[in-house]
Amino acid sequence: MSGKVLNMDELKKILINKGVKPSIQRLKILEILLKKGHPSVDDIYRALIDEIPTLSKTTIYNTLNLFLEKGIAQAFTIAGDNELRYEYLNSPHAHFKCTKCGKIYDIELNCDVFIKKEINGFRINKALVYFEGICNECQNSKIS
Ligand SMILES: [Zn+2]
Ligand SMILES: [Zn+2]
Repeated sequence: MSGKVLNMDELKKILINKGVKPSIQRLKILEILLKKGHPSVDDIYRALIDEIPTLSKTTIYNTLNLFLEKGIAQAFTIAGDNELRYEYLNSPHAHFKCTKCGKIYDIELNCDVFIKKEINGFRINKALVYFEGICNECQNSKIS
């Protein structure tokens, strides 16, 4: 999910429902996850450091690990990119990277159909699907 803006009460509700104490730093990190789509720890740090000068990258890591543990967020990497990215865990989807503009898109696709299934005797617990290609915007632009 990206581009979604929730107010503080709605953000608080998400954390409380998952059994997480809603500190201001946690709320701000959750807000970035909802707004920015697929930020790395550095992206989150840069987005918040002016507003919260006491924030450290360790706090961000710890908060994200808590979010992963509680099923609030998920982490993934994109091929050719060594940074771990995080996102708010909503409906199942796949990722699409445009090789022209480098943007990462969410594609609505239920990858859960593979979960708990076996392929050649390997049992699947997690399905992270990733595509590469040219996005709509780049296909439509005349400038190359
Ligand atoms: Zn593109
Ligand atoms: Zn995504």
